[in-house]
Amino acid sequence: MNTRQVRSKVSRFALAVALCVAILTPAARPNAQTPPGAARADDYLFDDVHFHLTNYVQEGIRVRDFMKIMGDKAGRSTLFGIPLQQQWSHRVDGDRGPTYYLNSDAPLYYYSFTDAWIATSYRSLPKEEQSRLDPMITGFNPSDMYAADHVRRVLTAFPGVFSGIGEFSIHKEFVSSKVAGEVASLNDPALDRLIDFAAEVGLVVLIHNDIDTPFAKEGSPPAYFDEVKALFRRHPDATIVWAHIGVGRIIRPAKAQGALVEELLKDPAFGHVNFDISWSEVAKYAVATPESAKAVADVINRYPDRFLFGTDEVAPKDQETYLRVYNQYVPLWKLLDREASEKVRKGNYERIFDAARLKVRAWERAHVK
Ligand SMILES: [Zn+2]
Repeated sequence: MNTRQVRSKVSRFALAVALCVAILTPAARPNAQTPPGAARADDYLFDDVHFHLTNYVQEGIRVRDFMKIMGDKAGRSTLFGIPLQQQWSHRVDGDRGPTYYLNSDAPLYYYSFTDAWIATSYRSLPKEEQSRLDPMITGFNPSDMYAADHVRRVLTAFPGVFSGIGEFSIHKEFVSSKVAGEVASLNDPALDRLIDFAAEVGLVVLIHNDIDTPFAKEGSPPAYFDEVKALFRRHPDATIVWAHIGVGRIIRPAKAQGALVEELLKDPAFGHVNFDISWSEVAKYAVATPESAKAVADVINRYPDRFLFGTDEVAPKDQETYLRVYNQYVPLWKLLDREASEKVRKGNYERIFDAARLKVRAWERAHVK
């Protein structure tokens, strides 16, 4: 064999190898069906069960900017504002307009226009972007017997938009006591009437209720656990998501939090209750140590259908900010088995909200004339 023959043999061999590689490697084919910037069903990181488009003074980002922020990282997301407005009282704060509830002693009040803002923002989007969002109704006072009527009115004014109610708060550190009017309570017939109505329509209920009071006495049982449990028990037909599993900025997970949550997980009477692990404060406790991360992962691996990821971001300015909580949870993601990880990040959201969309649209067809 002369040099030229060797060279030609080598190059034929190289070509054959290249062909095999090309055949065996699944090519990254661009999907013609996917609109630019949209996530394909199999390649995004998560769905977001807990997202605020606006803040405590009803300001935030435009929904079309949020779609860009979701990009190819978040497949779907809930969409809501914040039902409470921080009043700017010139008598109290002078020219310094507060933007957060901790910035002022002036009260918070229920700002029902938030629902119209969310609905019109959603409707401003093209259909394929709308299909990635699940807007939620929040602009009601949960201590008012008329709260359910507000929800009905919003569905009537904006049919085809909403999938749930919340995040609304009953007991929330520093917030509950600042709300103008009566303090909300887990034992209020108004709350029962609201959740009964949500169950009738098929709306997902995303409720924030701290498991305990701030600075609780060491060793005392968490103040609100029995009441929240009784509330859940009274509404077996509602699909409930307990935001942050009852943990708050200074509501540290109760000593026996794992055991308390497991009490709900293993009792079929609470099969309709799910847990959202959103908020950087929750992630902070969950991944504080390798032991805490392992304890959380163990529970999720045992009950993979009952937990949902959410960010709890409020009007994030860019994608990096939006992904903060997801990235904070990396130590947890590594400890989940494949099935649990998929369900917590995406599968459970899709199952719960797909079902809600069907039910709410059917209710609207029957009741909105
Ligand atoms: Zn929130």
